[in-house]
Amino acid sequence: MTSDMATAPVAVNERSMVDDLRACLRGQVMDRSHPEYDRARQVWNGVNDRHPTVIARCAGTADVVEAVRVARQRQPVVSIRGGGHQVAGSAVCDNGLVIDLSAMKGIHVDPVRRTVRAQGGVTWGELDRETQLFGLATPGGEVTTTGIAGFTLGGGMALTSRKFGLACDNLRSVEIVTADGAVRTASREQHRDLFWAVRGAGRGLGVVTSFEFDLHPLGPQVAQAQYVYPYEEAERIMRGWRELAPAMPESVTPQLILWSVPEDPEIPAELHGRKAVFVIGLFAGPADGADEALAPLGTLGTPLLDLSGPMPYLDVQSSVDEVFPHGGRYYMKSHGMHDLSDEAIASLLEWDATRPTPESLIAIRTLGGAVARVGPEESAFPHRSDVFNVSIDAGWQDPAMDDTAVGWARGLWDALRPHASGGVYINFSGLGDEADGLRHAVFGSSQARLADLRASYDPDGLFDTAARRP
Ligand SMILES: Cc1cc2nc3c(=O)[nH]c(=O)nc-3n(C[C@H](O)[C@H](O)[C@H](O)COP(=O)(O)OP(=O)(O)OC[C@H]3O[C@@H](n4cnc5c(N)ncnc54)[C@H](O)[C@@H]3O)c2cc1C
Repeated sequence: MTSDMATAPVAVNERSMVDDLRACLRGQVMDRSHPEYDRARQVWNGVNDRHPTVIARCAGTADVVEAVRVARQRQPVVSIRGGGHQVAGSAVCDNGLVIDLSAMKGIHVDPVRRTVRAQGGVTWGELDRETQLFGLATPGGEVTTTGIAGFTLGGGMALTSRKFGLACDNLRSVEIVTADGAVRTASREQHRDLFWAVRGAGRGLGVVTSFEFDLHPLGPQVAQAQYVYPYEEAERIMRGWRELAPAMPESVTPQLILWSVPEDPEIPAELHGRKAVFVIGLFAGPADGADEALAPLGTLGTPLLDLSGPMPYLDVQSSVDEVFPHGGRYYMKSHGMHDLSDEAIASLLEWDATRPTPESLIAIRTLGGAVARVGPEESAFPHRSDVFNVSIDAGWQDPAMDDTAVGWARGLWDALRPHASGGVYINFSGLGDEADGLRHAVFGSSQARLADLRASYDPDGLFDTAARRP
């Protein structure tokens, strides 16, 4: 997916937009001639290769306000960049303006109120590092370079979500710059309609410049379980796990992963590359009581490996970083599931047999608990009744494999559809090409209310890039 836009001449009106931005921003403004342009337009997923007209790397909220003002005047396609991790690469647009928050890294922890406020360019690794100084955490991504922004605005499923909820459930407030250039605080007290929307469907309503989260006591050491079971017993283990996982105490948010053993020096070499069933869980509470709570995860068969034990929370949160390198090629899709029937398990295993690369995986997250207790009026995240989320994560390096890997993930997604709840999680929703067709699956019962809000806060569709893409 290449483009020849890098060599295209700069049009007069494009030059004016760049000049306008340079005149009023404190942060860097990068057009195609800028030495940092090529680096700045890259996102985590190497499949995406977009060439925006200009990247406005904002230094603070005032820069965002100016960038929105220029966008209102010039009417380019607009995209917003947080951590740049969305698989679809929607943080960066072709031939438009990127409002890039990646330099906005402010983080302030208030250990007395147990809150943290962080700007829109912060990643989960950066946030966890600060909150862990006080033995506090909020539900966050499992890869350190994932942005807090896109993750939270889409919901945010974490290893602690059955206990503490989704990332968006932990929001106290956000600061958001809407299309009219106003800086608004949305919370339970102010702009409650916006606050409802940003929790789970927050894209396309404005630029969220900062997030205030609740924090919970967790870490620095946590108890975690990680069992690697033989693949030959996968069907039996998956059937046992589907009964066990939703019935576990809420302090555990179990995950089952069909994967291949990574080449980790701490794992015996003879297991490297071998297909296996990974069963993992983190205990979101004080260490006493953890062993008893986590123990059932080790009773599903005879594990090949038991990697359970105490671990720094920061290590748990970064443990798969190396497996998902920046610039690799990825495709992710997902289904919400009310249950995991025998037929669904058979389908998963049938497709897993043709998994295209060892780094590709199928992850089944357990929901319920605190996630299920939030009512539809409280947040726009529509998938509260799903018991599981199945994400199909294809990863590969060679561009020649694009069609095979994407085709595998789409084929498995189609095969699983009859067994699924009908909901698709926006943060794992493909490459954007199918996003319009999936709008109902993504936003569910929140769709109509969201459309009204968008019409009210962004009547000209400044942030609705899909509708405005040439
Ligand atoms: C390796 C990996 C692991 C992941 N693990 C998990 C996981 O454990 N649980 C989970 O729930 N998800 C997970 N995800 C999915 C992740 O939540 C999404 O990719 C999310 O969009 C990443 O946020 P970001 O800020 O990095 O994304 P970006 O690509 O920067 O943005 C994503 C979207 O949000 C919009 N956006 C970004 N910032 C703002 C803002 N400040 N204001 C308004 N709109 C904005 C962008 O325009 C874009 O459309 C994972 C993804 C990857 C790649």
